[in-house]
Amino acid sequence: MNNTVIKTDNELVKYIKEVGESNFKKCFQCGTCSAVCPLSTEDRPFPRKEMIMAGWGMKEQLTSDLDPWLCYYCGECSKNCPRKAEPGELMMSLRRFLISAYDWTGISKLLYKSKYAEYIAILIVALGVLLEWAVIFGLHPAAGATLAQAVSPDKVDYFFDWPISAFLAIMLTSFIYNMYRKTVLSDKSVKIPFTLYFTEAWSLIVNFFTQYRYAKCDDSEESALKKLASGKYNFWLTHLFLMISYVSLFVAIVFFLDWFQSENSMPYLHIVLFDYFASIGLIFGTIYFIIKRFSKKIERSKFSHHTDWMFVTLLFLTAVTGVLLRASIVYNYTVSAIFYIYLIHLMILFPMLVIEVPFSKWSHLAYRPVAVYFANLKEKAKNLSNN
Ligand code: SF4
Ligand code: SF4
Repeated sequence: MNNTVIKTDNELVKYIKEVGESNFKKCFQCGTCSAVCPLSTEDRPFPRKEMIMAGWGMKEQLTSDLDPWLCYYCGECSKNCPRKAEPGELMMSLRRFLISAYDWTGISKLLYKSKYAEYIAILIVALGVLLEWAVIFGLHPAAGATLAQAVSPDKVDYFFDWPISAFLAIMLTSFIYNMYRKTVLSDKSVKIPFTLYFTEAWSLIVNFFTQYRYAKCDDSEESALKKLASGKYNFWLTHLFLMISYVSLFVAIVFFLDWFQSENSMPYLHIVLFDYFASIGLIFGTIYFIIKRFSKKIERSKFSHHTDWMFVTLLFLTAVTGVLLRASIVYNYTVSAIFYIYLIHLMILFPMLVIEVPFSKWSHLAYRPVAVYFANLKEKAKNLSNN
């Protein structure tokens, strides 16, 4: 007989209720949700298992659980749940809980609990950017200055881009290490052979760039072409397009700012990749998700947390001001117009990067592929030890 003692954490139950809209207490463990879930397996019977763990407030088990990251919120479980307990939404709430659990600073928890905390955090970073800009470039450009003199790309690199990139790298690395500790190292039933970390690295890279498990959310027998034609891949493809656009722009701004800020040189790749592809991806991608959230017609967009709204809004505004900035350079606006558009753009972009990437919704981008990688490592290590 298993004598495991279950410690109920009532605070955790309260927190999970606060950060989502699942009625997990209504669950009577019929198992329909796991049976209809296209991604759940016999070894990983989510979301039923999570329904009971959430109801009992099993903090240790939930913190070490990777499965909420393996769910892509297709909503099949919620549609078929006889108790309307919203298991898909619970998996979403658990992702929010896990982000707070990996984050040792406590900021994520604050942001998820209170929309005002999120507004204040965004405002503080935006004002910090304004202050730094005022100290470095002043509040208006000197008379007769060129764009490069008014807003030196080197100074933007030294004082804005690189410190922010270093901050993001430090935060995300430490949070992911925390995730590794809680989900892999804490599991004494499995020992990962060192070489597996390298041989399984492909799953991390492929998942990061494609998030292809989204496409598996529909497990019907139809051909991929039919699914494509009937729009079943729309969500995944839009997400993919958005993510590639975002990564392209991030790399461009951090590593090729001179080129990006150039008034004269217009290389073909530059125009195609950044002026069109990335901007269209970001603007149309965010509009698509905003419409879905307003219409609430599909399961995964039925409930929107304040962090979901903040994320799409900031991303949309970043894209729009970015396009405006690029247009102002290409179409030779006055230096002072470009100067202010640039400032406004950074006052939106940096709060999005500093707050959303490590502490909120955008951190999914890092945690999902890492979770798939960790889950693969554990599964392979178990198979090896059983053979
Ligand atoms: S289908 Fe609903 S009631 Fe049944 S186990 Fe899943 S969440 Fe619980
Ligand atoms: S939302 Fe979809 S992927 Fe997630 S648990 Fe439910 S059925 Fe599975």
